[in-house]
Amino acid sequence: MIKDYQQQKALRDSYDVCIIGAGPAGIILGLRLAAAGWSVLLAEGGGREYSANSQALYACASTGLELYAGEARLRYLGGTSNHWAGRCRPFSPSDFAVPPIGGLPGWPIPYSEIAGYLPAAMEIVDLPPGADFHALNAGLDGGDFEPDRFLLSPPTRFAQKYATALEQTPGLDVFINCNCVNLEFDQASGHLAAVVLSDYACNRQRLVARNFVLATGAIENARQLLNSESLLAAGIVSKGGLVGGCFMEHLNIDLGTFILRSGLAPEPREYYTSDAFVDEYKAGKGNVRAALLADVQTYGRTAEVKHFLENLACDMGVASKIAFVARFSCPGDGVISTMIEQFPNLHSRISLLDEKDALGVAKVNVNWALSADDRHTVKCIGSELAKQWADMNLGFIKLNDFVYDTSIPLRLSPHAHHMGTTRMASSAQYGVVDTNCRVFGTENLYVAGSSIFATGGASNPTMPLLQFALRLADHLDARMNAAREAVA
Ligand SMILES: Cc1cc2nc3c(=O)[nH]c(=O)nc-3n(C[C@H](O)[C@H](O)[C@H](O)COP(=O)(O)OP(=O)(O)OC[C@H]3O[C@@H](n4cnc5c(N)ncnc54)[C@H](O)[C@@H]3O)c2cc1C
Repeated sequence: MIKDYQQQKALRDSYDVCIIGAGPAGIILGLRLAAAGWSVLLAEGGGREYSANSQALYACASTGLELYAGEARLRYLGGTSNHWAGRCRPFSPSDFAVPPIGGLPGWPIPYSEIAGYLPAAMEIVDLPPGADFHALNAGLDGGDFEPDRFLLSPPTRFAQKYATALEQTPGLDVFINCNCVNLEFDQASGHLAAVVLSDYACNRQRLVARNFVLATGAIENARQLLNSESLLAAGIVSKGGLVGGCFMEHLNIDLGTFILRSGLAPEPREYYTSDAFVDEYKAGKGNVRAALLADVQTYGRTAEVKHFLENLACDMGVASKIAFVARFSCPGDGVISTMIEQFPNLHSRISLLDEKDALGVAKVNVNWALSADDRHTVKCIGSELAKQWADMNLGFIKLNDFVYDTSIPLRLSPHAHHMGTTRMASSAQYGVVDTNCRVFGTENLYVAGSSIFATGGASNPTMPLLQFALRLADHLDARMNAAREAVA
């Protein structure tokens, strides 16, 4: 049943599981656990549709690379799946087997732990049963770049697809406009005793459950933990520690331009770094997309002037000489974009500000920061790609100077793939959650979503985070069954 917490606050006295956040992770987890017979509260901060007062609670400051974190995420039922693009690429065994460069450990579990959940995750995002992740094109000789393999979800809008199930699944209470504003930790028992929920008029209420799951996205999961004074007092969370640290994105970098050899088909070409590349260059993974521009791009208020220069330059064949006056590409030129792995580093982080939002929760600052190791990955991918294109007589790639000269600031944009802020590890020394996604030092507080990613590879995060959510549902089900049997 979906109820509006702004209007009615008829919560049960206690739930088996309380899940905060009804995006892809929270919705799937809630449905699975309720279907297994448990009483579940799914508390969603936003309403059924976009609203300015909910979205305003995502406003945050930025001291690092520009992330657009206030706008890219959507804060209402279905979460950011309300405008995700649907690109799905599974993790591979090497994502879990090869530790990241930079000193922090990688995943503490093998890929086989989530591999079995792939078919169910594919079904959730409406990929055909048994579909193979197919390649669009051939790879590049030399072993550094394979053809990339991915599938496109329609894309699935979780609030629409699961509307009936959210309304009708017995045992599941979905409350919208129901914001988590505090986590109350009981140090003596090691249990999270309650969460504090609030409507938009700041009416607050404690909610008790046996288990709690944060599923509010990678920035908010860290924010909720950092905002809890009782978790801070107990030393479960510390300012400047691992909670909020290791914020990772996938890097979308304008590597440069290319001219395709005449006679070659003009379709986009998509490559993916091979495991041999990662091993040889001690670099991260990456997708590279080379596509021809259909039209000359226009740029804001000076578009007319730039159009004139573009036409002139393209006609005269001197585009590169005046490109610094008006950055543009001629029709027929190719552009190269990427989705490149960022390694976990503690300087890239979410931290709490003194300023509070309208519900009294501390706002956050995002300091999205790359390391020298990330610049190395970008440089290796760009230069090896250019060499192999030339070797294979595919055409010529002109790399932007910031690709190979690491003293020049990178030109890049984010993919809105937020990861790593409550990373999984084998001990609290290196991570926030254990191998079952439980927060170290607590008995009953779990995290779902890509904030648990120890590394992010260059795979789109949503399908893998669903695999982890399904695995967490199984773990909680088994744990609660064991506890019930122990009592009986
Ligand atoms: C433009 C765009 C395109 C994308 N394309 C792709 C793609 O092609 N492939 C891919 O894999 N990924 C893509 N993504 C990323 C994808 O959207 C996310 O990985 C996914 O939505 C994360 O799911 P989630 O459930 O963890 O978090 P979210 O979807 O962010 O959901 C979190 C939920 O928690 C709620 N919430 C937040 N705070 C509170 C609170 N205090 N109390 C109660 N509820 C709260 C929110 O309202 C929201 O409903 C894209 C993202 C964007 C922005």
